[in-house]
Amino acid sequence: MITSPAFAGKRYAVLGLARSGAAAVDALLASGAQVTAWDRQDVAREPFEGRCEIADPLATDLSGFDGVVVSPGVPLNTHPIKPHADKFGVPVIGDIELFALARGDLHEHRVIGITGTNGKSTTTALVHHILSMAGIPSVMGGNIGEPILSREPLEPNDNGVGVYVLELSSYQIDLTRSLACEAAALTNITPDHLDRYDGFEGYAFSKGRLFAMQGTDQFAVFGSTTGAAGAIMQAEQQRRPIGRAVAADLERFAPMQGEWPSLQGPHNLENVAVAVALVEEFGITEAQWRHALPRFRNLPHRMELVCEDEGVLFINDSKATNPASTAPALAAFPPAQDIRDGARRVHWIVGGLAKEDGLGECAAYLDNVAAAYTVGEAGPRFAELLEGRIPKVERCELVSEAVSRSREAAQPGDVVLFSPACASFDQFRDYEKRGEHFRQLVGVMTDTPECAPDDSFPSEFAKDPAA
Ligand code: ADP
Repeated sequence: MITSPAFAGKRYAVLGLARSGAAAVDALLASGAQVTAWDRQDVAREPFEGRCEIADPLATDLSGFDGVVVSPGVPLNTHPIKPHADKFGVPVIGDIELFALARGDLHEHRVIGITGTNGKSTTTALVHHILSMAGIPSVMGGNIGEPILSREPLEPNDNGVGVYVLELSSYQIDLTRSLACEAAALTNITPDHLDRYDGFEGYAFSKGRLFAMQGTDQFAVFGSTTGAAGAIMQAEQQRRPIGRAVAADLERFAPMQGEWPSLQGPHNLENVAVAVALVEEFGITEAQWRHALPRFRNLPHRMELVCEDEGVLFINDSKATNPASTAPALAAFPPAQDIRDGARRVHWIVGGLAKEDGLGECAAYLDNVAAAYTVGEAGPRFAELLEGRIPKVERCELVSEAVSRSREAAQPGDVVLFSPACASFDQFRDYEKRGEHFRQLVGVMTDTPECAPDDSFPSEFAKDPAA
């Protein structure tokens, strides 16, 4: 656990006792702080009874408090906690800010912060993988895996200065005031989470704060350089010396992409270019990252190859919950150039709970799609949008039906792509359950038992659903 003398004798309220909130209470108590903890669910409060005061901060006089630590799942734009804390002049912060405050007492280390609408987890895991393979101690946390405060702090070592690699959602950035990352990255920004912000601009502004918190000599890299992401990059370039805020160099990596089986598609080229820029900033050499990239195994549910059956690839991309994250998956499989010249190869299973009306960025890649199998609440709408624009649309409703029909139709060389472009909540608890369901169906239908859920995958990749 990460603790700090900086919290000794201080007073904090913690609101929301899911994983990051619980870790914050533990770390604060172990550091000698006085804590008032609260969650609206009594099961979440129970573990803390007898260990600290249990009281709702909204009903508490916050005079003399040093901060209210809020879970990223609490919508700051509508929840009354912010105005309440403001009345007492108490800052509303999150666990990442506590980490930032604790940094001064940790052994010499560096911090990499990674944000963006899509690609955060892949880039974070990739950076961690490259550093680890190069022998640099690295701890991954934040929106990916365990909360950072519950991780063991890095110890001094002979191989090089250790690195904390943080995946940061915009909600976490909103709750952070003083995290100056030695290196930070923005993969891209497209509309998402708009219920929590004052429009797209508010969301983009939130991402931009990660960079505004950095010093001018610290390093920033940008995967996407157009639109909102480009505007943040330009602002940062103006405020820093040349070379300290840069665009990721996609062209440099394109010729090598064939060497990395788990990093296919244009989106992964962006993720690689960002990850390598970050690790090179810390002295990792080309020989080191070239050794690591082919050995990277993708995170589950992100363009995950489930199996190949009679020449048909089955890909689980259940994590694609918006059209912007499905688009690169469609783009990854252009028409065949050899066996069946010009044949469209993608059998696309799409639908769920729509986040936006329309095909968004997917519209640009419809030439790759042989057939769509529409499922879930948004299924009929996708069917309407796609009919007449691709050779075949099958209205399926259930994922099981879609898998069985797509398997029947797919030819050797084709790809059955489960990349729903929608949230999962109409039929599943979360995108992980949805992906496991797909994997199991494929396992049964292709008689490939090894498609069963991969328990060997470290549970540290589970994310806080609230984030
Ligand atoms: P995040 O952690 O930001 O949600 P992930 O790495 O988990 O991102 O990927 C989420 C989804 O977005 C996956 O479907 C993946 O294929 C897609 N994706 C990954 N990287 C990018 C990128 N750079 N641009 C667009 N989509 C991406």
